[in-house]
Amino acid sequence: MSKYLPTPYIKCGASDGKCPCGQIWSKPADTPIGEIIIGKWGDKHPAIRIKEPRGIGVVVEPYMEMIEYGEIPEEVAHATIDFILLACNMHDELVAGVRKLRSQLNEWYSHELWDDDDIEALKLADQLLAKVKEQDDD
Ligand SMILES: [Zn+2]
Repeated sequence: MSKYLPTPYIKCGASDGKCPCGQIWSKPADTPIGEIIIGKWGDKHPAIRIKEPRGIGVVVEPYMEMIEYGEIPEEVAHATIDFILLACNMHDELVAGVRKLRSQLNEWYSHELWDDDDIEALKLADQLLAKVKEQDDD
């Protein structure tokens, strides 16, 4: 459970949290963990362009060119950041809640009284807990 950087994760704190960079940070580790794309995205590659003619020569400058594939609107990007923060920061509590509900269901009913919804809920809980265990074992 401790292979990833510790939560809570937060938005970049620059400019009182209003920085538009899209970075997500681990607050306890005080380090960036990722960056959500805001705006245009695609493959970037170095290129050279002629800046200005100078005498019989020219001035060229390197720059990064992008082959654009799409664009993520700013509000969608920030909503995605919020979703990632919520999911990551609530992870441990959600897993603990599922474990508790699963054990409560076992205590409340004898297996003979389970209906299809109970069985489905247990299956979903077991699938989620198996995925968490798989991730923890990696
Ligand atoms: Zn920033």
